[in-house]
Amino acid sequence: MSELGTARMPLRVAIVGSGPSGFYAAEALIKAEPQIHVDMFDRLPTPFGLVRGGVAPDHPKIKSVTRVYDKIAGTPGFAFWGNVTVGRDVAIEELARFYDAIIFASGAETDNRLNIPGEDLKGSHTATEFVGWYNGHPDYRDREFDLSAEVAVVVGQGNVAMDVSRILAKTIDELKETDIADHALDALAESKVREIHLIGRRGPVQAKFTQPEIKEIGELSDCDPVLEPGALELDPSSQAELDDPDNKHSQKNIAVLQSFADRGAPVKNRRYHIHFLKSPREIRGESHVESLVLERNRLEGEPFRMKAVGTGEMEELACGLVFRSVGYRGVALQGVPFDEKRGVIPNIDGRVVAGSEVVPGWYVVGWIKRGPSGVIGTNKPDSQATAAALLDDIPKLKPCAHRDGVELMDLLRSRGVRFVSFADWQRIDDAEIERGKLKGKPREKFTRIQEMLDILDLK
Ligand code: NAP
Repeated sequence: MSELGTARMPLRVAIVGSGPSGFYAAEALIKAEPQIHVDMFDRLPTPFGLVRGGVAPDHPKIKSVTRVYDKIAGTPGFAFWGNVTVGRDVAIEELARFYDAIIFASGAETDNRLNIPGEDLKGSHTATEFVGWYNGHPDYRDREFDLSAEVAVVVGQGNVAMDVSRILAKTIDELKETDIADHALDALAESKVREIHLIGRRGPVQAKFTQPEIKEIGELSDCDPVLEPGALELDPSSQAELDDPDNKHSQKNIAVLQSFADRGAPVKNRRYHIHFLKSPREIRGESHVESLVLERNRLEGEPFRMKAVGTGEMEELACGLVFRSVGYRGVALQGVPFDEKRGVIPNIDGRVVAGSEVVPGWYVVGWIKRGPSGVIGTNKPDSQATAAALLDDIPKLKPCAHRDGVELMDLLRSRGVRFVSFADWQRIDDAEIERGKLKGKPREKFTRIQEMLDILDLK
């Protein structure tokens, strides 16, 4: 009988990714009865995934969830290994020599494509790029956004589209005391964008944004929301969807949209146009975005399953910038099964599968398990379910050969990898907060990995 999970032989678990789903998995394991040691890996020297690099800078309350993760990180049996890229600095097969189980928590790092002509023209960007840029993510800090155009279009009506469009619509005074990266604040200060268009392929009842996010658009200091005449007229199935007593999501959204429709003519310097029932068909321009061709849609299907169908009626919207915010996608990890169609690691209840076979000792949580849906809190029960599957499997797990982190440290050092502990991250954190104080911001992030490492290695 295996001794795994006893004080003599604590179970060794590696978690690949340090976003919310990784932390909730770590918490569930550490709190469990068996003795478990968790090592959490991240390719950046900084933890917290999308809480740091995705949540909008003007939503500080959402970011305060990191206090929960700090507590988990402070629990005995937990260690953070930042600045280690699994699959490059250490191969999956190598990692498997040091851990009895591996949990993949790598999220959804790229975007869905629209697959329309002109998508790659200059001035057409993904939401991921823009979000990473204004949040100071090292991968995106050098991206350039030409904000000299007056008209910007955001395609999609999820909460990421709301974040992107709201940042474009806000004044510098509304942003300067947030933790937005300085390079983004400087560029946005010069922005000429005055008209922002938010494009939804379905109707107002089906819009994915949530009420607090759409309500914020009515509270912007120098931007008015604008709806097209008749935008809230509903087809019978949408009306039935709205009338469903359980559909609080749409009822709350429609109440806010109705309040926008009831406003007088816009008076502020910027306008935020909300379009429904339109699909992008082509981005036009010589070498740079000049316009977006939209096809008007109608809705077909049963309530709650309504699909947008093109009517053939086209319109062309002149614009200089397009942001595509039509959902994220997971990225394959070398050596790990991947479902190309869904952009997830195939799994049964969190156990990774290759074909129809469960891969012993491999698990998955979060967006790379179920796709990019839900809010941060959605990950807690999802990660707990995977942790429960892992705990059930302990008697079947094969103990790994190398049960000491020192050997892994030696391996990484021999490859020149400067791995970062949680205590190291806390020094980076302190330095960022200190830099922020000088500017009246909660923090000024380091946006280059070398800058972060320099803080640690200052003599
Ligand atoms: P999302 O909520 O799934 O929204 C994707 C949007 O893209 C939908 O409006 C969708 O329309 C549209 N879309 C997809 N394919 C399209 C196409 N080919 N043409 C036109 N439109 C298309 O995804 P997300 O905005 O990326 O957000 C991901 C998750 O993070 C969500 O669960 C979101 O709530 C969460 N999040 C939350 C917050 C917050 O709480 N403040 C902030 C950011 C993100 P259909 O509805 O017709 O499919």
